[in-house]
Amino acid sequence: MDSLWDFPDFDAHELVHFVTDRDSGLRGVIAVHSTHRGPGAGGTRFWHYPRTGDAVADVLRLARGMSYKNAMAGLPMGGAKAVILADADRTKSPAMLAAWGRAIDGLGGRYVTAEDVGMTVGDMVAIARETRFVSGLPAAAGAPGGDPGPFTSDGVYLGIRAAIRRALGKDDVAGLHIAIQGVGSVGCGVARLAARDGARVTLADVDTARAQAVADEVGAQVIPADEIMTIEADLLSPCALGAILDEKAIAALRVPIVAGGANNQLATDADGDRIHRRGILYAPDYVINAGGIINVSYEFLGERDESIVRDRIDGIPARLETIWDESAATGRAAATVADDMARKLIGRG
Ligand code: NAD
Repeated sequence: MDSLWDFPDFDAHELVHFVTDRDSGLRGVIAVHSTHRGPGAGGTRFWHYPRTGDAVADVLRLARGMSYKNAMAGLPMGGAKAVILADADRTKSPAMLAAWGRAIDGLGGRYVTAEDVGMTVGDMVAIARETRFVSGLPAAAGAPGGDPGPFTSDGVYLGIRAAIRRALGKDDVAGLHIAIQGVGSVGCGVARLAARDGARVTLADVDTARAQAVADEVGAQVIPADEIMTIEADLLSPCALGAILDEKAIAALRVPIVAGGANNQLATDADGDRIHRRGILYAPDYVINAGGIINVSYEFLGERDESIVRDRIDGIPARLETIWDESAATGRAAATVADDMARKLIGRG
């Protein structure tokens, strides 16, 4: 590979900004994919990447996904994402967060950050000391803001119910078997909602203590993390990291539905066709998991009333239905249909 321009995941991103702060040891990358609809919005991921090239590939893919997500959710925001390259122990310091805030501020509003994997509301508060281009801050009661995770879980669960209605013809999840990969912020919320409604929940997390704690709380069964992708169930909800649906994994799936919160679930675009050809109903990730960004975007835009956030999240099932209808009518994969819709909305159709 000669340069960034040749990265397979490079999609004419408007800006790719490499950040280094020698004093704090901060290294990160901010990728703004499109500002066609507004400022590039998407969280900061704090993650250890054994190979720095993987971090660049990740941020490029995630930023494009945010353009699609924000457009499909009808938000007046563009798409962007950022990663901080954590060390193996994932050590985070106040100096690092301050330097990150200054780096975001230097982009003058082309990028607006929020929480993603490895970042907390407290981290956003620290970043906000250096820049106003940050969301996911503690919110007043009834106003948008705060941890996006619960809003994402709510939207994912509405999408799960829509998928079950469509593929299994059932209006409620009672007695159905739902498998969840990853029970962090999003997956735990999905597990709680599914269990509340009487589903049989099986879950897995590489953090086995966390998996057990969530299982004890909601009354679920825990299985080893390397077994969740091949479990026989009514629905698989990937809520951990991305690229879990590749050729091999798709061939081994034993579920009629995949609907979860993780970003970039499909390893490649071809995997969208593969899952479609297997007759599995797939909920495009950036459509079903938009709840969190809807919340933090309205916070950033100064909206005071949380009901507008709820209304937009309630629209997730209808957006999925539109995609599935077109997929059924044309025989094209749901993932391709969604990508085409999203690209039109960001002026790249
Ligand atoms: P999180 O860090 O709180 O939880 C992720 C969980 O997945 C952790 O418990 C981790 O141990 C587990 N995990 C990692 N690899 C795993 C594996 N191979 N098998 C099983 N478990 C594994 O993160 P989160 O905020 O819940 O986000 C989860 C996913 O949803 C990510 O892909 C994220 O980008 C996406 N997402 C999150 C939000 C949000 O609002 N938090 C919004 C949209 C999308």
